[in-house]
Amino acid sequence: MTQTSTEKTDLKSLSLEELTELLLTMGEKKFRAAQIYEWVHKKLCTSFDEMTNLSAALRERLKETCFLTSLGVERVQESATDGTKKYLFELQDGNYIESVFMRYRHGNSVCISSQVGCRMGCTFCASTLDGLERSLTVGEMLEQIYAITRETGERVSNVVVMGTGEPLDNYDNLVIFIRLLTDENGLHISQRNVTVSTCGLVPRIYDLSKEHFQITLALSLHAVTDEKRQALMPIARKYSIAELMEACGAYFEETGRRMTFEYSLVGGVNDSDADAAGLARLAGPLGAHINLIPVNPIKERDYRASDRSRVLAFQNKLEKMGINATIRRELGRDIDGACGQLRRRKAEEQRCPSEG
Ligand code: SAH
Repeated sequence: MTQTSTEKTDLKSLSLEELTELLLTMGEKKFRAAQIYEWVHKKLCTSFDEMTNLSAALRERLKETCFLTSLGVERVQESATDGTKKYLFELQDGNYIESVFMRYRHGNSVCISSQVGCRMGCTFCASTLDGLERSLTVGEMLEQIYAITRETGERVSNVVVMGTGEPLDNYDNLVIFIRLLTDENGLHISQRNVTVSTCGLVPRIYDLSKEHFQITLALSLHAVTDEKRQALMPIARKYSIAELMEACGAYFEETGRRMTFEYSLVGGVNDSDADAAGLARLAGPLGAHINLIPVNPIKERDYRASDRSRVLAFQNKLEKMGINATIRRELGRDIDGACGQLRRRKAEEQRCPSEG
């Protein structure tokens, strides 16, 4: 069980079985666990005092021995054009993370962070510039969705683990998070509406395949030769594209779920017709869907996005080779849309407050 330095139990990170065990050791009846679980994961309550069907004595004991993870809403930026909302949350230890709420025709989607910072080092990504601070707990991942549900008053039907961090570098917590998020006794979000994005930690892709989740696994591919991929993503020095494709094949076979390949188009770097043809050859055997994302330039690097006409030509080439490709709608461009930009701005303000 997850504990804080004061040794209180992190209630929001517990499965119903673990919660039941805890209540039994407290000398309580089993059904109390189900009641508490419902308050936390279905009614999304924020304090023990709201749990009105528990006795005052039990609420007091819970307060003394447990805590409910909460997030401070430090800032909310709302796009003037598409209703996208970007949240900067403060964690209980003073770290900051960001989450994004997006409205689509098929429902509301939340993009969450899985770590504070990231240690993967992708050269075009703002989230990794200061390295990894720590991984998020299960409760901190869930609470991003719970807090946004409370704040917007709207149901969230899709969750993408595509914010700051490498979810498979926080594997154990990610797996519990997916179970709780999709549990019928909680928000009961369909596993098919959950997407996890990874830069490609090969051993963890095999592990995840064995969980038999019905989630979508998205692979951040971004290049079709090892040489090019290594220039963009340090992880490519550890695992070759061939090893990666073998793991993706095993994932598809084990789960029956088609994967998504994410491909950020960087002008003059990975956006030629030959790149598109290589991508089609990798995606074809897996029936993978391609998500094209014109790279969102960050000020620390001089990458530029491919021109619109190049993006369309790249998509066209893929489709001619029988591969489905979507150009990602760029929501929230006017509100620091790219990964990690809001959190970095906050950190910069703290370093030099006068420039804030
Ligand atoms: N670590 C995970 C998830 C976080 S990044 C992963 O690598 O997949 C989510 C997606 O955004 C990844 O595909 C990542 O490569 C991409 N990304 C990060 N910074 C970007 C930028 N500046 N422009 C376009 N895509 C970016």
